Parts: sequence; structure tokens; C-alpha cells
Amino acid sequence: MRRRILGDLAEADLRGRRVVIRVDYNVPLDEGRVTDSSRVTASLDSLRYILKAGGHPVILSHLGRPKGEVRPELSLLPVVALLEESLECPVRLLSLDEAEAEQGAADEGVLLVENTRFLEGETQGDPELARRFAGLGRVFVNDAFGTLHRTHASVTGVAELMEPAVAGFLVERELRALSALRTEPESPFVVVFGGAKIGDKIELVDELLERSDTVLVGGAMANTFLRAQGHSMGDSLVEEGSVEIASSYLSEGSDLELPTDLVVAPGPDRADEAIIVPVDSVPDGMAALDIGPETQRAFSRWVIEARTLFWNGPMGLFERPPFAAGTLALAHAAAEATRAGAFTVVGGGDSAAAVRAAGLDTAITHVSTGGGAALDFLAQGTLVGLQALDEARA
Ligand code: ADP
Ligand code: MG
Repeated sequence: MRRRILGDLAEADLRGRRVVIRVDYNVPLDEGRVTDSSRVTASLDSLRYILKAGGHPVILSHLGRPKGEVRPELSLLPVVALLEESLECPVRLLSLDEAEAEQGAADEGVLLVENTRFLEGETQGDPELARRFAGLGRVFVNDAFGTLHRTHASVTGVAELMEPAVAGFLVERELRALSALRTEPESPFVVVFGGAKIGDKIELVDELLERSDTVLVGGAMANTFLRAQGHSMGDSLVEEGSVEIASSYLSEGSDLELPTDLVVAPGPDRADEAIIVPVDSVPDGMAALDIGPETQRAFSRWVIEARTLFWNGPMGLFERPPFAAGTLALAHAAAEATRAGAFTVVGGGDSAAAVRAAGLDTAITHVSTGGGAALDFLAQGTLVGLQALDEARA
């Protein structure tokens, strides 16, 4: 079955209609300022298409994890000016109550509904909340790739209640790139895993070992594997609840490559005391905050020789320049592989930010806006948010 996408809707489907569009404006903020606007930019194709056809976008998005409470510092307000500038039309930020009260009022410009996670029931997929979202418009578009793996009211719930319900242009682009990784990826296919969201991701390592030739593990994720090998990890970030599953992957004699050396320091703010140690010699009171130079070289070699690459999760605490070297080395290796003709995909909010900060985002085949969603799709070939769109057609 071919998935219906925004480009399939005729002007008549959109003209004069309110179009509820779920986007991912989970942008990084610093004192009320958006420090990286790429997620806003990524939504513009779909928004412009709707506006050009004469539709009226009603935008839904989450920001951060306010857990069902109004947290003013997580308001979508900083996004408003960015959107107005890009779309060249007025954008009004409204609470859900206010947006509902607007029904039937003269349509103009764009409505942005305040952070969906301020509302109780959003992350539980509450059907009543989904019904309220659905009541905001006549057509549903999901262009929030980064949350397509979530059964939230503004993702799956609302999609099941609306017809037409279609995928937006960003989702379409993401799926095209990720599908290419699933269908006959050229060998060697190298997967790089890192970052800190270990519990969310470690269960997918198995599936990715099956699909790829080699899985390289760095970042805090590696600490959990090194602990599973019996190493003492000092004050390093280790996900104790995942040590058992990590050791089950190790005992299978799999194609999993771990760091051989690490950069350790007493803490993120004490880089002047950082030293390089082999993985079996992490001192008490020190934390592993980056992969070491030997690991950098070994991992870079794997990446440069890859014909297909998927990378999720930084190799260290890259936000602090003294611990960014491993991540940067890998970003450069990924760019080199791409230049040599490899098909390369980097996914995940932090991984994408690291690649962009290095100025290498255009040197990679595809930089995905979603980490968890990209991984889930890679492992399963579908996402709950997509299934909900398909069901809505039935
Ligand atoms: P992504 O957003 O790309 O999916 P994650 O959210 O899983 O990646 O992880 C990113 C975070 O992991 C970053 O904030 C980074 O500082 C952190 N991180 C990576 N390696 C380490 C480490 N060794 N110790 C502590 N934090 C780490
Ligand atoms: Mg992240």
C-alpha cells in the first residue's frame, strides 16, 4: 500500500480549510532564544504548500518534557518570530482552549497551539485530548518525524480520528533516506552507536547487528558495554539496568566494536585534569567523557571504509570542546566516506547538532531530525505514527 502524502492532496482538499499539522519544534533554547532553528526550517516546505493552496495551518508541537504541566520556560513563544519571518505572515500562539474558541472565526495567518506536552494526557495518548486536537481542523498532516515512534495524542490519537490524514514533506524525505538503509544497503554497512539515551536504544543493537556488517559503540553507551565486560568504570555514566542485555550481545561473539581507550576526567568542568587511559584502567573518581585517540583512529577507519553508514549518538560529551574530539573525528570520517561515494545517514538531535556545529551537515548524505524514530524505523520498517495515518484511510 502506498502511503498518502501531502503532495497527493489537491488544492481543493486544502483551500479554505484548517489543516492540523503536527511538527517537531523541540528546538534547543538558551535563555528564551532558539540556538538551532533547523527543525523550524525543516517544517517550512509543508507549511508553505498548505498556505499556497489556500489552507490555514493549525500547528501542534511539543517542546521538552514538561510532563503535563505549564512550564513557561518551555513555551513555543521563541518559535513565533522565526516562523513569521520565514512564512511572511502573522503567526499567533494560542492555548488549546483559545484555539478551540477560535473555531468559526475569520481565518487568517497561522495558528500555533502551545506546547502539547503542557496538556495532561498527551504522552499517554488520551483519546479525549486527541479528539480535541482533531476538532481544530478538517485535514491532518504529520510532519513530526522525530516523534513518529510515540503513541501520543497529537501523533497517533489525532491521526486515527481524521480523514484525510497524510505524511508531510519532511517525513517523506526522511523515510526515503532511511528506507534506502533497509533495502539492500551496500556492504560494508557500518552502524555507529553512542550518546546517553541507552535504555531507549540498546534493545535495537541486536536488530542492527543483523542488518549491518559492523556496529561501533562509543559515548556513554559504550560505558555500559565496558561494565558488562567487567571493567570498573569509576564515575562514568553507566546504565545499570542495561548491563545484562549489553553482556548478552557481547557473548554472542558478534561484530560489535568497543573503545580500547578513553578520555577520563574528574568531571565535565575539570578538563585540565583529563587523561587518556586504556579501558581496563579507569581510575576511581574519574568519568569517561570521550573515546581515546586510538579508538578514534580505529573507528574512523571503519567509517571511512564503509559504503553505507548509519550513526546515532555522539562519542562523548561533545558540548564541552575538550571532550568533542572523538565526535568530530567521526564526523570528518563520515564526510570523507560520503565524498568517496558512501551513502551516509546521521540521526538524532544531538548527533545532528554535532555534525552541524562542525559545518559538515551538507557533507553527509542525509542528516535525520529524529534519533529514536530513525532507529525504530531502521529496525522495524514502520513507525506507530505512520500506521495511524494508514489506518485513518480505512
Ligand atoms: P541523540 O540526540 O543524537 O540521539 P543522545 O540524546 O542519546 O543522542 O545522547 C546525546 C548526549 O550524550 C549528549 O548530551 C552527550 O553529551 C552525551 N554523552 C555522550 N557520551 C557521553 C559520556 N561518555 N558521558 C556523558 N555523556 C555523554
Ligand atoms: Mg538527544
